[in-house]
Amino acid sequence: MDFEALKALGWRAHFADQLTQEDSGLKPARTPARVPARVPARVVREDVNRYHLLYEGGAAFGVLSRRLRGESASRGDLPAVGDWVLCTPADQGFVIERTLARFSKFSRKVAGDRFEEQVVAANIDTVFIVTGLDDNFSPGRIERYLMLAFSSGATPVIVLNKADLADDLEKYLERLAPIVMGTPVHVISALEGDGLAELESYMQEGHTVALLGSSGVGKSTIINAILGYQRFDTGEVRQGDSRGRHTTTFRELCVADTGGLLIDTPGMREIQIWAPDASLASSFEDVESLAMRCRFTDCAHESEPGCAVREAIESGDLEESRLRSYKKFGKELEHFAEKQDASVRAERKVSRKKFTKTIRKRPTKRDLS
Ligand code: GDP
Ligand code: ZN
Repeated sequence: MDFEALKALGWRAHFADQLTQEDSGLKPARTPARVPARVPARVVREDVNRYHLLYEGGAAFGVLSRRLRGESASRGDLPAVGDWVLCTPADQGFVIERTLARFSKFSRKVAGDRFEEQVVAANIDTVFIVTGLDDNFSPGRIERYLMLAFSSGATPVIVLNKADLADDLEKYLERLAPIVMGTPVHVISALEGDGLAELESYMQEGHTVALLGSSGVGKSTIINAILGYQRFDTGEVRQGDSRGRHTTTFRELCVADTGGLLIDTPGMREIQIWAPDASLASSFEDVESLAMRCRFTDCAHESEPGCAVREAIESGDLEESRLRSYKKFGKELEHFAEKQDASVRAERKVSRKKFTKTIRKRPTKRDLS
């Protein structure tokens, strides 16, 4: 296998370690039939019934194996953009046999009422949290994206775009200071090309970068600038078609000429992201480390005596708004966990019912005689 070509697509030990002897085409000791080697490929785009894949030999289309379609209990197990899959070459394209475990992922709830996970992008190394230095600037939103990024397993980087419009950069940076928690901050102007070299430094070979940020902050402009060609229309008003769907539903992983991969998916734009493993530990390290010094372990940081968090707020070491966000996100995560528990319980109930039904249906001695 040409591992160099795979490495350029993001292949690494994390995935290689998951290959079994069978995947590599080595026969298990007692299997008489020849086992074909499985081809590792990366999902770069997802259409309704097929996947666009890149592998060591170029591009191919892939469809899910019958087993995978039947087996996958939840949509979260199905391949998403950025995933590494193992395939068997077939007459026309590849059959996808298995999705390899991800090292990071961004998910959202599936559309509709069901409380189910849909992975929108997987195996991302770095996530650019993009904001415009204009009226749209919101530290609260960045705080939220940071929490989601940390929970995803990707490393966040804050990108402040439209520097050409900002007359008082210091003011913006001051408002950002309490929440960045050591995250790198880059001030750029995608329009004028300022600071783009700093972003390009993240585009190392095999390194995957995704962009997160609300509409209009300049994500498409940044992607076009990094890729060096007009990958996306910018500034267009994205209107729904007659069925109320968005017309631009591309969701694609692009390989840059200079090495490195870029993901832009509409799903990443949405702020309500599924975050089952979310934790406040990384994004609210400041509050959490103070809270460890509170006198009471269950301190609510309201008016308890010996509250290290309130003391820090009074002495000006911690912004009051940080505590507010911390509590707000904490509640949200609790709420999420409760909903998830309820959904798991409901699922169990359904499968229990199905199970009892199959037991009841088992033939009795009389049926058999
Ligand atoms: P997206 O929705 O995040 O993909 O944003 P776009 O890339 O489509 O950009 C939205 C608008 O902002 C477009 O009109 C861009 O030309 C403009 N824009 C993007 N980057 C900059 C910048 O650095 N400075 C200024 N002034 N405008 C920018
Ligand atoms: Zn306290």
